[in-house]
Amino acid sequence: MVESLERARIDAPGRSNLAPDTNDYWVELDRRHRIQSRHTHPICLTRGEGAWLWDVANNKYLDFESGQICASVGHSNPTYVAAVKEQLDKLVQTGSCYIDATQVRFQEKLASTTGGHFQQSFLACSGSESNEAALRLAKSYTGRSEVVSFMGNYHGHTFGAWSITGFGDKARAGFGPPMPGVTFLPTPYDYVMPGEPRYAYRDESVIAACVRFCEKMLDATTSGKPAAIVVELLQSAAGVRPLPIPFVQAIRRICDERGALMIADEAQTGLGRLGSWWGFEKFEVVPDIVTASKTLGGGAPLSAILVSSRLGQEAVLRGYRQSSSHTGDPLLCAAGLATIEIIENKDLLRNVRTVGGYLKEELQKLCDASPIGGEMRGEGFLLGLELVRSKQSGQPNGEATQLFTDECRKRGLLTGWWPVPYLAANVVRLMPAYTLTMAEAQEALSIVEASLKAVGRTGAV
Ligand code: PMP
Repeated sequence: MVESLERARIDAPGRSNLAPDTNDYWVELDRRHRIQSRHTHPICLTRGEGAWLWDVANNKYLDFESGQICASVGHSNPTYVAAVKEQLDKLVQTGSCYIDATQVRFQEKLASTTGGHFQQSFLACSGSESNEAALRLAKSYTGRSEVVSFMGNYHGHTFGAWSITGFGDKARAGFGPPMPGVTFLPTPYDYVMPGEPRYAYRDESVIAACVRFCEKMLDATTSGKPAAIVVELLQSAAGVRPLPIPFVQAIRRICDERGALMIADEAQTGLGRLGSWWGFEKFEVVPDIVTASKTLGGGAPLSAILVSSRLGQEAVLRGYRQSSSHTGDPLLCAAGLATIEIIENKDLLRNVRTVGGYLKEELQKLCDASPIGGEMRGEGFLLGLELVRSKQSGQPNGEATQLFTDECRKRGLLTGWWPVPYLAANVVRLMPAYTLTMAEAQEALSIVEASLKAVGRTGAV
């Protein structure tokens, strides 16, 4: 197959000699016609049902990535499909100078999930866009332009979102200067130095020292009064790293003291993935702006910023303006509304907590039994399985991670790990649909067990 891919790269035009019901055929065409700017597995998916996907050759996979962490209520959920089809027949799009009932109903329903904290939203399509909107609102509300972010935060690929993404040269090289006025601070994970004890990032004294250092950095390298501080409460791409709660609370205090808005990017933690409606509930803070995307549309491209009505109204008075051709499209809002209603009616938050808790516990046992298994991090259906060179040092084992995910895929389990520079090299993300059953969880566990056995001591020292 590799040979056929090479050929496809060289002779772009022409027809494939491969049969169209094979993965190789579609991979070859994909190589010809899509700009090859990201890694893809040689699998052509054709349909999905619940937590399952099928490829063109009718191979079946357990999808522990939920599409791209978006298909929260499962693939082709019948209630979701019916709601979207019904809206499709009625109205797909309106000009943004009009309102429509589906959009209003969705925004009302979205507000109802926030425990009374957020009544207003601006809707868009992607996570990057929602972060752009949050920055725009924070800047016009505060009249300031500096923004603070953290090492290991991921916020997207548009200019502002990319500029506040803390992956250094891995994300930066070749794209010119980022947005001015951005400062990065360490989280306790990056504040810990090599050679310090393995789990030092959890120590109260380390967290407190990190907070002091962040405040010192703010005073030394910025005006000290930024427009916003942006957090990813659980840094997913950086290796499923939940920020310690006292650290998040200190950021809240720092924002209050300095008149900055606290923005929480909940692309992954929002709308149920942690087993609560919102991640901020788990981290015991209320941000000023929450950005939501991925999980929000159940697979349809829908994103939002959420604010209190006080902040929303005051921001507009102070000059905040935001528009898009696709803000609040009825079709997308119908998908969002159906997603929230399904989570509610099927009690899926409880399912995420129960099955997620079971999965995490059982996976930790498998990690403990493997010579290269590290710690299980995360919560609900946003779990990270860490592979290490030695249990004592916790040194990352990228070599085993690649092999392990290949072994899982061979056995029919798709994980959220790919070989790209800005994802943690040794943390395999497991993020199934909220509808995952106990039996499906057990099936995944036996694949993980067999794959860990197949990987053996690879990369161990
Ligand atoms: N924020 C976070 C936390 C994300 O994980 C992502 C996507 N991986 C984004 C923002 C960007 O979202 P999108 O790809 O939809 O622009």
